Formats: sequence, structure tokens, C-alpha cells
Amino acid sequence: MSLHKKASKKSESFFKSVEKSFDKAAKFLDINQGILDAIKSCNSVYRLRFPVKFGKEVKVIEAYRVQHSHHKFPCKGGIRYSTAVNQDEVMALAALMTYKCAIVNVPFGGAKGGVKIDPQTLSAEELEKITRRYTSELLKKNFIGPGMDVPAPDYGTGEREMSWIVDTYTSLRSGGEVDAMACVTGKPVSQGGVRGRTEATGLGVFYGVRELCQSSEEMKKVGFSTGLKGKRIVIQGLGNVGYHAAKFFYEAGAKLIALAEREGGIYNELGLNPDEVKKHIKKNKSILNFPGAKDIPDSSKALELECDILIPAALEGVIHKKNAECIKAKIVGEAANGPITADADETLNKKGIIIIPDIYLNAGGVTVSYFEWLKNLSHVRYGRLEKRFSENVNTEILQALEHLIGKNISEEERKNILRGPDEIDLVRSGLEDTMISAFHEIREIQKEKQICDMRTAAFVLAIKKIADSYERLGIFP
Ligand code: GLU
Repeated sequence: MSLHKKASKKSESFFKSVEKSFDKAAKFLDINQGILDAIKSCNSVYRLRFPVKFGKEVKVIEAYRVQHSHHKFPCKGGIRYSTAVNQDEVMALAALMTYKCAIVNVPFGGAKGGVKIDPQTLSAEELEKITRRYTSELLKKNFIGPGMDVPAPDYGTGEREMSWIVDTYTSLRSGGEVDAMACVTGKPVSQGGVRGRTEATGLGVFYGVRELCQSSEEMKKVGFSTGLKGKRIVIQGLGNVGYHAAKFFYEAGAKLIALAEREGGIYNELGLNPDEVKKHIKKNKSILNFPGAKDIPDSSKALELECDILIPAALEGVIHKKNAECIKAKIVGEAANGPITADADETLNKKGIIIIPDIYLNAGGVTVSYFEWLKNLSHVRYGRLEKRFSENVNTEILQALEHLIGKNISEEERKNILRGPDEIDLVRSGLEDTMISAFHEIREIQKEKQICDMRTAAFVLAIKKIADSYERLGIFP
């Protein structure tokens, strides 16, 4: 069954599911109910219908932009293109963005956009028309702008769409708005993007799971030894997030025993190479029939495989009431937003499965979006000012050391020691530091308040930070 159909069929409201997690966490805090209500609710919901002309035909497109929280500006969150888009979904995703940003200390309010289309059935020309029209509609209502609301890629969108958005925005803003480039993130590097944004969410997922697996205390709970090496992983969804996460796990020596896409999945106990699988998909337009692997005709069955770590990296609601009992993984890392419904969450917790929640684990994307936004505001590439200076200082230190010990080091070592940082080095180290620090902030609160699951602890951390911000801001009369 296609993931799309599955997501649109589920009965439980996604937004309610997020609210349930919020309420569960709020019980651990002593915060005024009014403030809690203010944090929980969506501040602005913009529902649009706009016509687009394809040849002689006119089509009306349904779209949304939701700004969940105005406790900080700009609001931030991706734009999703999918036939399953609806108001409830966009509201839930916007809310998750608020909590996500708070957890990784990214100073934005949460937002999300959605356009109800199937990008796979539309031509590039049609998609460009829709994207540009959507951008101009957002601009009319002040729902986009560097200090107001900054979109980014999400399911069904990527660099190409972000390029169209920045071009439309800058064309419509006459008068040379100097920070216009910062109106959207996830752009190609040639259009003001930052190196390392494309793989950021997948790399963040890797850092988060690696951190958990390094904790002997956590690994003891599930009977594992520490480290990622040899861990048997299943990844559902091989889009931008799933693919990059798979690549980093593979490089770290984990074993990808199954990978699943919409049309089905493949299984090989000896492990799969994600690059080979990606090439196979490109060539055959399907993941199935991969040499040496066994086919899993129903994609959703991949979630139920016996494995160490399960990474749902596609859409929300894929682990629900009906299949939660069948999940056999010991650790579930939520690379997607909301892949586990509130009911299923309870079941998995009861089974002793460690869930690394979405509001922490997939925050790598927005973290690097923040770096891109800062780059656009400062109008300079990371590393440009300090790279040569660092290299000169390093050369002097090395020369002094070599003089002292009376020995020269090898050319290879010299190159590594002298090298000043490039943009990609700084972005990656900033991301790594963010993911590791946030992990330990969550763990600390979990221990301090004796919370059983990581999701509740992550919500507690987020609510605490946002409530603090609201309380200090005061309420405007
Ligand atoms: N769509 C991504 C998310 O759900 C990225 C958002 C952003 O970079 O603003 O986290």
C-alpha cells in the first residue's frame, strides 16, 4: 500500500496526537494553564485557494501556511507537496516545528506550509507555476519574509522549489531588500544556500542515534552493547532524509538489513549498500528486485521486521494502533515527523522500546537552515574570514613544534593539521555539537524528573523554554 494512501486514511487527528504528547509532558511542570494554552494553540492559520492555468485549463489549488507560534520571529518550517495535505496535518507539523526549534535552541517560532498536489504527476513547468503563485500569495498576506516567516524544503519539495521561491520573492520585493535571500532556506549553494543543508536532517538523525548508542546505561535497558557497529537497522523511506541517514549509518559500520520505499521493500541479512540501492531505484524506477535481496511486497511490513533499530523516515502515522504490537525493533528513531501515533506511542513504551522522538531527532534540518539564514543575513560564506588566518597560525605553531622536537612530520599529517575550516566543516561541527548538546539536555531533564520516555522529556524541555520566553515577554494588551 502506498504511504500516501495510508497517511490519508488514518482516523486519529495528527494535531490531537501532538496535543496529547504536550499534555502528558505539561503534567511534569508547574506552569500557568493560560500560558500552556497559549503555547499549544496555532497562532495563525492561512488557508488558500488559488487558480493556476495549465495550457487552456484552469486548476484550483488548495494550500496552507500555518504559523504555530509567535513567541519568536521569524516563524520557520518547510513546505510539503502531497495529496495527503490537509489543515490538521499542517497545524500538527507547524506545532512540531515550534517544539523542535526550542529543543535545539534555534530562535524561531514553528510554522509549516502544505500544497495539496502530487508532485510526481506534474511537470517541472507546472510545479514552478504553482510554487511561484503560492509564494506570491504568501507575500500578499505577510506569510513570508526574512524576519516574518521563512519556509524550507519538506516532503515533496527540495532545492529547486526553494530557488523558485527566492526568485519570486526577490522579484516581487522592489527596492532591493538587502536581506531578501533569507526569505527561504534549503536553497542551492549557488542561490545563497549553505553547504551541508541537503544532508543535514539525515546527518542529524545519525548523530542522535549514535549518541544514544554510546550510552551504556541506555544500551543496557535494551540488552545491547554500545556503539553503532554491527547494529541491524531497517529504514522506511529513502527520500532525502532516509537516504542520507542510511549513508551515514552504513559508513559507521551499521548493517542496513532492510530498506523500504512506497512500492515495497528489500531485505538482506548481510546488509545493503544505500548507494547501490539508490542507483538501482534510479535505473529500474523501483526498489524491488535488488540483486541478492528478498522483496517485501508490502512496504508497511518492513516496519514489523525483527531488527535492532527502526528508522521511519517517510510520513506521519505509519506506526499506529493496529501495527504497534507487531513492532520488533528495540530502538525506534523518528526521522519523519509524527510517524508514531499517540496510541501506538503508549504501546511501544509499554513494550520497553526506546523511541528517539522526532522533535529532537530530525531537528538537524532546521538547525542547518538556521545557519543558512544567518549566512544570508551576514552576506558572507562561513570560513571566508578566518580560513587563511587559522592556516597561518597553525603553520607557526607547527614550525615551532618541529623546531623544538627537531623532527618534521609527514606531508599528510601536515596537510591535516594546517587546514583552516571550510564552510562544510563549520556547518557539520555546528550540527554535531547541537545534536549532542540537545540529547544531553533531554537526558538530564528525563533523569531529574524521572520521566520514563524520551518524547515526554523532550516536550518538557521545549515547553519549559517556550513558557519562559512567554513569561518574560508578557502579554501584549
Ligand atoms: N521540513 C524540515 C522539518 O520538518 C525543515 C524545516 C526548516 O528547515 O525550516 O524540520
